[in-house]
Amino acid sequence: MTSTPASLHAQVASTAEAIIESGAISPNGHGNLSLRLPGTAEMLYCTAPTLKNVTADQIARISLEGVVLEGDVPPINRAVIDMHTAIYNDLPEAGCVIHTHAPYATAFAVARRPIECWIEALAMFGLADGVPLAAYGPRGSAQAVANIRAAIKGGAPAVLLANHGILVFHRTPEQAVNVLGIVEEAARDAINAIALGGPIAVEPELRAAALQRAAAFGIVPAS
Ligand SMILES: [Zn+2]
Repeated sequence: MTSTPASLHAQVASTAEAIIESGAISPNGHGNLSLRLPGTAEMLYCTAPTLKNVTADQIARISLEGVVLEGDVPPINRAVIDMHTAIYNDLPEAGCVIHTHAPYATAFAVARRPIECWIEALAMFGLADGVPLAAYGPRGSAQAVANIRAAIKGGAPAVLLANHGILVFHRTPEQAVNVLGIVEEAARDAINAIALGGPIAVEPELRAAALQRAAAFGIVPAS
């Protein structure tokens, strides 16, 4: 038993299910996921080996200093705790962090190429400058975390992890899953467009207009 609300445990499980349904994950379901515990310096962290069929009891409570307060965390998950706590510590608004090996986005990570603003949804959902690339560092290491922190300084809610995968974060799990899906869609579309001469980015001066139109229709919050 844990002292955290059952509804938050259920939210971790339902978010894992939404990630699987989004298709922005490798076939083996590898990934990790956390939620900030509101009003605390702690997070709930999924301890399942994959994000397939996560149950509400496969969750640990961890301080944002990386101390496991409750639950058993397998080594494969323990190794990337710092990748999650760094986001919550740096970004007070972040409420959810997701990591997967989304196939198309990971292709860009393996090619060590950032994703540009090739689909307008990126401009609408906080990625007008595309998805930056964090330089390679061994999985979950201090070097990898420092590279992630450096790459997201511009404010993007998503980052490609060189030779590894993708990390996204947002205020809510729904918004984080949405961004994950949009980035994967952009990556897939760009790779398909290579057969037609290559993707062309939205004109920089029109990206703000795409965001403003989305806000005018209530698709995204007005800033
Ligand atoms: Zn990974």
